Amino acid sequence: MFDTSRKNSKEKVVITAAVVGAIPSKNDNPNLPTQPKEIAEAVFKCYEAGAAVAHIHVRDDNDAGSMSIEKFTETVNIIRDAKCPIILNLTTSGAVGATEADRLRPFSELLPEIATFDAGTMNWMHKVVFENSPSFLEKLGQTTIEKGVKPEIEIFDMGMLNNAKYYIKKGILQEPCIFQICLGAPGGMDATVDNLLFVVDHLPENCTWGTFGIGKGANEILLAGLALGGNIRVGFEDNVFYNKGVLAESNAQFVSRVVRIAAEVGRAPATPDEAREILGLGGKK
Ligand code: ZN
Repeated sequence: MFDTSRKNSKEKVVITAAVVGAIPSKNDNPNLPTQPKEIAEAVFKCYEAGAAVAHIHVRDDNDAGSMSIEKFTETVNIIRDAKCPIILNLTTSGAVGATEADRLRPFSELLPEIATFDAGTMNWMHKVVFENSPSFLEKLGQTTIEKGVKPEIEIFDMGMLNNAKYYIKKGILQEPCIFQICLGAPGGMDATVDNLLFVVDHLPENCTWGTFGIGKGANEILLAGLALGGNIRVGFEDNVFYNKGVLAESNAQFVSRVVRIAAEVGRAPATPDEAREILGLGGKK
């Protein structure tokens, strides 16, 4: 088989901070950032701790998941005005029931370097349908190409990886692709080392990949991901607990843990510029 690290760097790990997400609330963890200033502050602290990529969601005034262009604009502007060099990765899946136009708009207008591409439909948390229809995925892929925004392909189960391979063949996703292996979401694959290895073994050769685990398998996936040469995502979007029963103090606390563990296995955090090179972002800011 191919080298498990694929095109990732063996010496550097690209750390993505997913600081808010669409689901957790301040009731789950009062340290969750939800409004633009709080989100930007969390991003700055994660950058200082070693994150190279900020995966951004926004919330409405009531802290509910949202695709509000105003909230995205405000958040992105604070980060850009502060000249923080972190790579911006905007979600296209920030609110259940958002229209296709709402989902395409933030990255099309704000032109981050990365936007997410959730490569299939799933039953989300046993509650709602997380819809990514074939026609939407074609439109999303084409729009990222037109706008020069690199898709990060989120894989929650093996069917999504097969969908992604189909879109690569059709030219709707362009290699080298960035994959994010998302494990432990109810409705998707469990966060186990077995599952991670199975997905990694089936990735195309010309790609980079990262991973994270939601819930009880989070630390297992972190350790296995580093061992396999993967990039790592952490943050409140995926986990509000730092360890079992212990609420996380901040997003940066998660980033610092990755930096410490990676150092023990000879990998240092990639700077944003190093991450641009590893991820094939063409040095564009
Ligand atoms: Zn997200």
